[in-house]
Amino acid sequence: MKLVVTIDGPAGAGKSSVAKALARRLGYRLLDTGAIYRSVALTAKQRGIDWKDGAACGAIAAALDIKFDFVGDNNCVYLGGEDSSSAIRTPEISQGASIVSAHPEVRHGLLELQRRLGAGGGVVVEGRDTGTVVFPQAGAKFFLTATDAERARRRVAELQATGTPVDPARVLAEIRERDHRDASRDIAPMVPANDAVLVDSSAQTLEEVVDSLAKLVEIRAAGS
Ligand code: C5P
Repeated sequence: MKLVVTIDGPAGAGKSSVAKALARRLGYRLLDTGAIYRSVALTAKQRGIDWKDGAACGAIAAALDIKFDFVGDNNCVYLGGEDSSSAIRTPEISQGASIVSAHPEVRHGLLELQRRLGAGGGVVVEGRDTGTVVFPQAGAKFFLTATDAERARRRVAELQATGTPVDPARVLAEIRERDHRDASRDIAPMVPANDAVLVDSSAQTLEEVVDSLAKLVEIRAAGS
């Protein structure tokens, strides 16, 4: 049986790489819920709407026209038919996503969309509340973390690899700011589900993490 597998955790813990590799290993689909919140933030910015305006951002969320499609190894995001994969990944939109995601109207507006995209199982879902709120019945739940210094180091390396100028101290400060906002918001804060397996990736390679998650999913899938 094919499960819903959730991977939640803070920025830079390696969720995206792990989720992508795990989905490939299992032959599952991938659902990147962070990309959906980022898309709301980008759309608001394009329309001149303040990220602090919960009602207006909620209306964007409720009507979001988003599609995912793998092009080679890239999980591309199309908004209103336009490839927005790079535009949603800037540091500014990272902060915007974290701001819009704290509005109940936005979270509510995106709940059905996420459940529809994950329907039928055979999917690895990554985000902050996918094991607690979006898919509380998921067959396997993980909470992936790493020290903030290690997460900042990885984000700096990622940005440098794309030729983006980076200030490491600023990256660390932004990660801390986002963690704090995501973990302390009133609605769907970033916390591990009671039945999530906690995984600290600080001292593990991507392959080691994916191996251990895949083993557990296979055991759960065989027993379900
Ligand atoms: O995972 P990613 O960095 O792309 O997420 C961007 C932001 O979207 C997070 O900082 C968080 O505020 C928000 N988010 C969320 N719930 C999710 C996924 C992302 O609140 N399930």
